[in-house]
Amino acid sequence: ESGLISKYTFDNFIKGEGNQLARAAAYAIGDNPGQTSFNPLFIYGGVGLGKTHLIHAIGNKILEKFPEKRVIYISSDAFTVEFVEAIQSNTVNDFSNFYKSMDALIIDDIQFLVGKEKTQDLFFHIFNALHQNGKQIVLSSDRSPKELKGLSDRLVSRFLWGLQTDIQPPDLETRIAILKNKSETYGINLSREILEYIAHNITSNIRELEGCLVKLLANASLTNREIDFDLVKRTVKEVSTTKQVNISIELITKVVCEYFDIEENKLREKNRRKEIVLARQIAMYLSKQLTKSSLKTIGLHFGGRDHSTVIHAQTSIEEMILSDLKLKEIINTIKNKIEMTAA
Ligand code: ADP
Ligand code: MG
Repeated sequence: ESGLISKYTFDNFIKGEGNQLARAAAYAIGDNPGQTSFNPLFIYGGVGLGKTHLIHAIGNKILEKFPEKRVIYISSDAFTVEFVEAIQSNTVNDFSNFYKSMDALIIDDIQFLVGKEKTQDLFFHIFNALHQNGKQIVLSSDRSPKELKGLSDRLVSRFLWGLQTDIQPPDLETRIAILKNKSETYGINLSREILEYIAHNITSNIRELEGCLVKLLANASLTNREIDFDLVKRTVKEVSTTKQVNISIELITKVVCEYFDIEENKLREKNRRKEIVLARQIAMYLSKQLTKSSLKTIGLHFGGRDHSTVIHAQTSIEEMILSDLKLKEIINTIKNKIEMTAA
């Protein structure tokens, strides 16, 4: 049992700017496991951006090309559970030898090994054995190796041996392409206008785009209606309100401050330092975007500032991200983290 899900392939993985490098490296590995310099391949990025899909695609491609090879996919969570069971049944050696016998070991969501020292130790030995023998290792994580605090240094240093590449949130064109592709696999043909509307309004990740599509189909069949623009609007609204309930200004403040490594108090004080002002403006902007709070409420949360300050923050950020792609990426990353924490 490889643990691979056969529907996750390269064929149905849409290329976009945000996943270009990760996809190219993954594809090369599928052709030549263990033989490229991408060993290990470490793919990281926010939730719902295609990491799991891509690493399954690697495994499926290896098996398609080399049916005799041994490939295994497992999440680091499941790996930990299996390890604990092996300890209890006195079969740690078998457990370890099983993984050492693979031609390709694919571990998803490696961040769940944080704080689990015994599992990390065992994985370290498995990693070394595989790597020495030219076997392929593929890892995914919600953050970069260097951000994996609580993972042993020796493990992190090995993650840096190969290629680390991130997946960024999809841009508008990629979102439209994904929606088009998915809706066609569901056997429906959505107009360009509808595709654009959904892609414009659901921007955070691909899982949510899919969720919206599924909801749209459900709504259409429940009401026995054609998928028209009205139904689309209603569905998008529905999907985005359920998402917003869990997100609070407190959470936004916390994530923004963690990202910039500043104290939350600083956002409430009258501090005019450049990076504090930017963090504060981003937090206000996201509060307006991700919660239903009024301008007044948002102002109050940031040290009793006036609603016009919030409007100013909003327009400043909107203007800045038009020309500053780096900032746009930063805000997307923060948004992903917020949504991930709230989910
Ligand atoms: P992650 O592991 O990063 O949280 P997943 O791989 O589970 O994300 O992706 C979420 C959903 O989005 C899956 O159903 C996946 O098939 C789909 N998906 C992600 N990226 C793409 C892509 N580039 N093309 C097509 N579908 C994608
Ligand atoms: Mg995943």
